[in-house]
Amino acid sequence: MHKYYLSLGANLGYREQTLHQAIMLLRDNTSLCVTAVSSFYETPPWGKLDQPAFINMACIVETNLSGVSLLTVCQEIEQKLGRVRHEKWGARTIDIDIVYSDDVVSHTDRLEIPHPYITQRAFVLVPLQEIAPALQIQDKPISYWLQQLPDVQSITKTTD
Ligand code: ATP
Ligand code: CA
Ligand code: CA
Repeated sequence: MHKYYLSLGANLGYREQTLHQAIMLLRDNTSLCVTAVSSFYETPPWGKLDQPAFINMACIVETNLSGVSLLTVCQEIEQKLGRVRHEKWGARTIDIDIVYSDDVVSHTDRLEIPHPYITQRAFVLVPLQEIAPALQIQDKPISYWLQQLPDVQSITKTTD
């Protein structure tokens, strides 16, 4: 069994509803098991600043699927929920990234695990810390990476 950590985000449309639907679609998938789901957090845009605020969350998935197969599942859910690809880091109805795994590493363009920006993104780390407080990334706890980031205060929990 592999353990994967997913980061989900939405900044167009009914953001919370879309995220609830994404989690439902993951739960409906018999090839995987969703073992933890974080609260929702409102977060300012990152990288491309002239777009609406995001709702971000994290979940843990346990499955025998390879990383690429899980990515395909995530991308099918993005398509089903109406994701249209525009410019890099632009607004989207839903984004699902595999940000980390306890036991899978991948270094291809199609799939990089750990996600290349995981330690630089408070909007990924804050929800992840809620559901995986003991997780170490590159042998350091999430709190260590969050201490390096200037924007942690701008991330506010919207639900439990
Ligand atoms: P970022 O990856 O910086 O958060 P993004 O999520 O906006 O940017 P997308 O347009 O959603 O980028 O995805 C572009 C490509 O990234 C996907 O087609 C996918 O093959 C690739 N990719 C590489 N590593 C990962 C990963 N760990 N999780 C999800 N997609 C990945
Ligand atoms: Ca992303
Ligand atoms: Ca993505």
